[in-house]
Amino acid sequence: MQRRTFLKTAGIAGGLMAVSPLLGLANANRDNDFPMMDLHVHTTNEFTIDDIVNIAKKTNIQFGIMDHPGFAIKTDADLKNYIDKLRPYPVYIGLQPMSPGWSKSFSPELLSQVDYVLMDPQTIPKGNGYNETLQIWEFDTYVDNADTFMEHYMAHTMDVLNCNDPLTIFGWPLFLPVCIARDYYTLWTKERMQQIISAAKKRNIAIEINDMSHTPHEEFIHMAKAQGLKFTFGSDTRDHKAGRLDYCKYIAKKCNLKREDFYIPQRIIRKG
Ligand SMILES: [Zn+2]
Repeated sequence: MQRRTFLKTAGIAGGLMAVSPLLGLANANRDNDFPMMDLHVHTTNEFTIDDIVNIAKKTNIQFGIMDHPGFAIKTDADLKNYIDKLRPYPVYIGLQPMSPGWSKSFSPELLSQVDYVLMDPQTIPKGNGYNETLQIWEFDTYVDNADTFMEHYMAHTMDVLNCNDPLTIFGWPLFLPVCIARDYYTLWTKERMQQIISAAKKRNIAIEINDMSHTPHEEFIHMAKAQGLKFTFGSDTRDHKAGRLDYCKYIAKKCNLKREDFYIPQRIIRKG
């Protein structure tokens, strides 16, 4: 009996020591100090826009939907259909093209109706010594030489960031193929990170904090923030995991990101 009382008291005292009430309150406020948006979600036949809207209602997370020009969206008619289908829903409408030069297939007028464009550098033409086009999200991505790969990856990243197409968000930043992922902190030198930040800065391109890949890391976020870049949260999900954003929330809090550090699409969305 005595022991139980002691444990209970010790537990309370320990709790008070760990988090002083004032500090706890400040942390709680800080939790809500960034916009809870997942701007990178895809629909499928099994995971529909209605499923996404249901998650949004339950969690109060604002979603932005993505689809790929060049695949499902090839022509102005396809793009118009995509926009018209999503317009009645309380979501942002985004595009995720796969390679530079994509916007030539669409009229500027129609493109201006899209809320934002995200591009990632994951499809790398001639990415290895075998002149293969790499899709680096695939676990069997073949890297013959890490240094040569990084040269090709950086060159392709610059092609993406410097493209002549509209670009709002740089997605999947610093992600590496599985076979060299253990060398992340060595391969991402300050110089390489700075090259990406400078190119993004030139066009005011925001950086996606990617929930699936847990990238980028703290140092990159601090560097980008210090130079005035904005961030977004993106899950790249196409199922019920949409909007979880655990890594995004964790690293944003750790880096002390605030509301003003985030890119927020301009269109006002009315929630019905
Ligand atoms: Zn995606």
